[in-house]
Amino acid sequence: MPNLSNKLDWFTESVIRKMTRISNDYGAINLSQGFPDWEPPKAITEALKEAASHGPHQYEITWGSNEFREKLAKKQEKYMGIEINPNENIVVTCGSTEAMMVAMMSVCDRGDKVIVFSPFYENYGADAILCGAEPIYIPLIPPKFNFDKEVLKKAFEEKPKALILCNPSNPVGKVFTRDELLYISDLAKKYDTFVITDEVYEHIVYKPYKHTYIASLPGMKERTISCSSLSKTYSITGWRLGYIIADKKIVDNCKKVHDFLTVGAAAPLQKAACAGLSLGEDYYEELIEIYGRKKQLFLNGLEEAKLKYFEPQGAYYVLVDISEFGEKSDYKFCQWLAKEVGVAAVPGSSFFKEDVNNYIRFHFAKKDETLIEAIKRLKKIKAL
Ligand code: GLN
Repeated sequence: MPNLSNKLDWFTESVIRKMTRISNDYGAINLSQGFPDWEPPKAITEALKEAASHGPHQYEITWGSNEFREKLAKKQEKYMGIEINPNENIVVTCGSTEAMMVAMMSVCDRGDKVIVFSPFYENYGADAILCGAEPIYIPLIPPKFNFDKEVLKKAFEEKPKALILCNPSNPVGKVFTRDELLYISDLAKKYDTFVITDEVYEHIVYKPYKHTYIASLPGMKERTISCSSLSKTYSITGWRLGYIIADKKIVDNCKKVHDFLTVGAAAPLQKAACAGLSLGEDYYEELIEIYGRKKQLFLNGLEEAKLKYFEPQGAYYVLVDISEFGEKSDYKFCQWLAKEVGVAAVPGSSFFKEDVNNYIRFHFAKKDETLIEAIKRLKKIKAL
């Protein structure tokens, strides 16, 4: 048998997805891969029934149905504060996972450098390698997860093609301040660098923090490729509906890459998801209230279990420091946790470029009763 592509030697399978399988094997409460355990809004599931009976069931326009793009443009214009032409500035993708990959493939050539903040959502490393790009990692320094401005400036001096910005960030829940984003923007403009965002948690930002879309900052619309998805906002992670919003010239190229990668996102799901895109402001207000309560419930539980954590400003993850347990492998710790305690988490090392083994990541997008049971189990952790 001939050799398989040697690109594959440079990254492992997703640890996040693997932890879900381990969690299922042990029948643990799965607080590893982040997805909710409740139903999507009724308007969406009812629209899905309608789509099942009346279609569409055939290919949509490859870059997304007209109705979906029109509704998305209207909603995102309001939140992002930029003008969005549904025909020129949008590509609908199979989740933001595809959006990010398409964005990277559309801007990067072999050997291009790409700035990635570390810790980072594990896909970005694999995306860069598959595009032949070389990541430059910039540490986000605990406990605040700020970056060193001088270190970032030095990275820009290497003339990177793009910077990847996960905001609010996974796994640390950092919400980049407007000042930080202005600093990044100034460097991106000075060194002629694209910014590729992952903003899937755009509606999960806890008070008093505020989400700033970097695309909305002066001079950034032209060079920002905003990627996001409906997964987290409407609790439909399995539908794989995401999108890219960018300048026409960039979008024209993203459309080509997307067409040859996947042709398009599922037509009936696009149709049904339009019901979500049409929901009013109160939906998003309620969403953040629900997540705010869950965050407090889970963090109180971590306090009761006497675990050390970093409070998130956005998204639905929390990093817990496991140094005191003296286990050198966070991966082994997570296996033990799933098997013996009955709660699954993601080993922090899968997010860090640096050799860091003392964090694990929980998510709290679960029903209150699921979180309460998880807390009950976690409270026994020290005794075990
Ligand atoms: N973003 C989710 C997480 O970090 C997982 C998304 C996925 O597995 N595609 O847990």
